Amino acid sequence: MRVTLILFGILAMTSCQQNAQNKTLQSEQEVTKNDGEEPTKPEATEFYEPVPPKVTIGEFGVPSDAIVLFDGSGFAEWVSAVDSTEVQWHLNDDGSMTVKDQAGDIQTKRNFGSIQLHVEWKSPAEVQREGQNRANSGVFLQSRYEVQVLDNNDNPTYVNGQVGSIYKQSVPLAMASQATGEWNAYDIIFHAPEFNAAGEKTKSATITVLHNGVLVQDHFEIEGTTEYIGWPKNEAHGPAPLKLQDHRDNSRVSYRNIWVRELE
Ligand code: MG
Repeated sequence: MRVTLILFGILAMTSCQQNAQNKTLQSEQEVTKNDGEEPTKPEATEFYEPVPPKVTIGEFGVPSDAIVLFDGSGFAEWVSAVDSTEVQWHLNDDGSMTVKDQAGDIQTKRNFGSIQLHVEWKSPAEVQREGQNRANSGVFLQSRYEVQVLDNNDNPTYVNGQVGSIYKQSVPLAMASQATGEWNAYDIIFHAPEFNAAGEKTKSATITVLHNGVLVQDHFEIEGTTEYIGWPKNEAHGPAPLKLQDHRDNSRVSYRNIWVRELE
């Protein structure tokens, strides 16, 4: 009896799967027609493939399909951006790292194209200086396009260079910083630019940034490199490292929990 029931179950499941597949084919055909008569049944506009891959969320909110770039255990994924030698930044006991002044930027060993990026950062609790010289760092997508990191609490500066800006290109939609000395999170969706064989840009990079869950950049079309002086540049390039900035003014900015999901 039990065996019969199991067999019946398997047959029923197989039959269901077959039905689902047929339905998929049927509805895909009907949906892709789209230029014919408008469907009159709900099934005609429902399809079953492709099935999205299952992603689970692990410790510290890290998705199962993410590449962990920094979890506090070391700099295995990073090198100095100055000379590709070992990272000299400080590795802290609390699972974070802190910019070592004058040691220079650091960058990932891996190159990236379009990505979803999560990075947490904080400015030091002890405030020093003002404007662009207060806890200035930055997250550079493809080593070229900077999302500004800055302690802007009671510290105004030019708005296209404030925290959450695309440096000198796009003013953030809000100033969503935590109190000085507290951890912030950036969640970034970056689509890489495209260039043709002649080296001309055919598609601008786009970027969306959530700062502590608040939308601060909404699919902004990046104009080119984020220059301190001068216009954005658009030299052709491919996948490139992610870079974190040493502003070389004792910023003491810290980072933790950095991961990416590749989007292509
Ligand atoms: Mg900066």
